[in-house]
Amino acid sequence: MDASNIFGKILDGEVPCHRVYEDDHTLAFLDIFPLSFGHTLVIPKQRCAYLHELSDDSAAAIGRVLPRIARAVLQATGATAYNLLQNNGAAAHQAVFHVHFHIIPRVGDAGLGVGWHPSPLAADAAAELCGRIVDAL
Ligand code: 5GP
Repeated sequence: MDASNIFGKILDGEVPCHRVYEDDHTLAFLDIFPLSFGHTLVIPKQRCAYLHELSDDSAAAIGRVLPRIARAVLQATGATAYNLLQNNGAAAHQAVFHVHFHIIPRVGDAGLGVGWHPSPLAADAAAELCGRIVDAL
């Protein structure tokens, strides 16, 4: 099975899933190898690999349902904390190349392990970078 388009196969009904939500633009289902009980995936029906490829309409549709699905996952599991994770690119831990958002409840030690190693940002580098991003928008 081609892991790069397994979510396409789920969308096409060729591969089963535990569906928790569906509308015209999005589908949400339980992750098959959950990091914690309740780990849920939310995907757009638009077929693209990376977040930055999504149309504004698909992005808005995902944004509209994420809080609602997160509330339902919390209510169903009893969790009170969770991480929202969205990986883009193999180097960023993406394994399935169809845009997806993870909702991962944090219960005790179960959930997303985060390696967070911040470093200071110099004011001149920040100003220069900020300008480049603004120009690119
Ligand atoms: P990624 O590392 O690409 O952000 O995460 C992909 C996620 O998809 C993983 O958490 C993995 O467990 C999940 N996954 C992979 N194949 C399937 C599948 O066939 N069905 C479901 N429900 N989840 C899958």
